[in-house]
Amino acid sequence: MVDILKKAASGLMERMLSSALVVAVRTWPHADMHEIDLYLPDIDMDSWDTIKRLKCKVGTLEYRDYTPVLWNSETNVCTMLIDSGHAGAGSRWVRTLKPGDQVLFGPAHAASPPSQTGPILCFADASAIGHFLALKQLTDRSEHPMDVVVMIPDGYGIPEIFKEENPEFHFINGIGQAGLNMMEQWFLSKDLRDYNSIYIAGNVSMTKTLKTKLKASPNVHARIKGYGFWS
Ligand SMILES: Cc1cc2nc3c(=O)[nH]c(=O)nc-3n(C[C@H](O)[C@H](O)[C@H](O)COP(=O)(O)OP(=O)(O)OC[C@H]3O[C@@H](n4cnc5c(N)ncnc54)[C@H](O)[C@@H]3O)c2cc1C
Repeated sequence: MVDILKKAASGLMERMLSSALVVAVRTWPHADMHEIDLYLPDIDMDSWDTIKRLKCKVGTLEYRDYTPVLWNSETNVCTMLIDSGHAGAGSRWVRTLKPGDQVLFGPAHAASPPSQTGPILCFADASAIGHFLALKQLTDRSEHPMDVVVMIPDGYGIPEIFKEENPEFHFINGIGQAGLNMMEQWFLSKDLRDYNSIYIAGNVSMTKTLKTKLKASPNVHARIKGYGFWS
């Protein structure tokens, strides 16, 4: 009986979703990061003026949010960067994806770019790299210089090409409390008065802790926005 109800609910949900096609899959050689190129035929990407999230079906009645980055409104192709080094339905799903697969998703708003110009400071873990690549695509560097600090596990290899193309991304090796301590050291070495906006995204407790610490700093005049992705 429970299975029949689940199947009915799943069918109902699926009818509300759009369909995308996996065009290409790339895996970072020394990291659990998958780049998925998706063709979204029915989506008007020209209207994307905020950071989006695609709620993807990753299993029966299982949905996970992923951020489209580097979208091209002429080809209707976007890329998602999915961190998959842990045991979870989303991680398992992305490891099986291959070109030609269908992805069911619902698009939604995730975050807005800053309303005022000026430097942006961003804090992330690996799951939020895409979120800040999307913010980069939506903003102009001359109006919004960016510093993005990303905590990654020891041994998580960032491809050279990524570093060359994204010099505003700085990587800190360490997760959990060790990563937080290093992030704190990093921001204490900066003049926080320089930043007009601060964004934090990724692990919920990382987001909350950094937000509290930054709010307590007398040098922070920026608006701080926090986005908890996973706990
Ligand atoms: C608006 C929004 C945008 C998002 N965009 C992205 C994105 O672009 N790329 C992306 O990778 N994720 C993104 N996420 C997070 C994503 O939706 C999932 O929550 C996350 O990937 C975990 O899903 P899962 O099924 O793999 O693991 P879950 O089933 O949620 O968790 C299983 C276990 O793994 C742990 N865990 C979960 N995630 C991680 C992680 N990243 N690192 C280490 N341990 C983890 C959990 O604590 C738990 O113990 C986004 C979330 C939101 C809300």
